[in-house]
Amino acid sequence: MPTDVGLLRRKGDDGPCGLCGAEGKLSRTHVPPQAAGNDHGVQRHYLRVKTADGLRTQVVGRKSAGGMYVFGLCQTCNTAAGKWDPAYAELAHGLKRCWASGFVLVPSDRMFLPAVMCSPGEVARSILMGLFGVNHILRDRFPDLAEGLLEGFGDLVLPQELRLRFALARGTVGRLTGAMHSMKVIETRSGVIEYLLSDAAVYFPPLAWNLAAEGSTYLDGQGWGDASAWLSVPIGERRDVSTLSPSLPLVEEPSQDPREWDRFVHLLSDKITPIVECSGLLLE
Ligand SMILES: [Zn+2]
Repeated sequence: MPTDVGLLRRKGDDGPCGLCGAEGKLSRTHVPPQAAGNDHGVQRHYLRVKTADGLRTQVVGRKSAGGMYVFGLCQTCNTAAGKWDPAYAELAHGLKRCWASGFVLVPSDRMFLPAVMCSPGEVARSILMGLFGVNHILRDRFPDLAEGLLEGFGDLVLPQELRLRFALARGTVGRLTGAMHSMKVIETRSGVIEYLLSDAAVYFPPLAWNLAAEGSTYLDGQGWGDASAWLSVPIGERRDVSTLSPSLPLVEEPSQDPREWDRFVHLLSDKITPIVECSGLLLE
């Protein structure tokens, strides 16, 4: 019998809300927001492992429609996070033309961004509130930030040890994960071990986000952008994304990237780390 990998909360399960910390029923927390296309048409599945003849192999669980979500925020906090959905959807829509859904040869796997106006302060709040729902330990570690995100409009600064990195997600699959520490041990760019110390991450074309500790040399090596300062951009202030980050790498989640998946060791916890995947994403 295959067994589930990671934390799998089901509808009706109790848990701590990733933003206010209240114990109780949690609501479906879509990351990225449904407004960005992560909705009913997206087939979600969980990771499972099958053990046979002493060998453990990864299998894909049953697929169901509804997008990538976890039960991570209470209804009140989920609704509070929802007010930033349109800003996130606007940016994702604006960067759709950067989505390399099929095989595309791009010099050094990097793409220049088009001039697209966005609201960085609101986009950062949208993605961070979702990621706090994916990893509730973040609230214990950064209670002031959780409170500030809920308060909504005040000045916010991301703590130095937490970096919000972003890139262009390629391909037709997506992945949403909680805390995971990964090491790339074979054939690294620099010949030394590369680390990915992720508190939460989501890959959903056209964008990928990683809330990661400094020292995540794997992201540095791939050349991810740093959107940490977006959180401090006042609400309502508009910026051209190509001036914030002239270019971004095209990336796939290491476990979903055929060039990478057998070169990594991943450390995760069944108590705190959800893993949700989706496949068959279509460029509309
Ligand atoms: Zn809450």
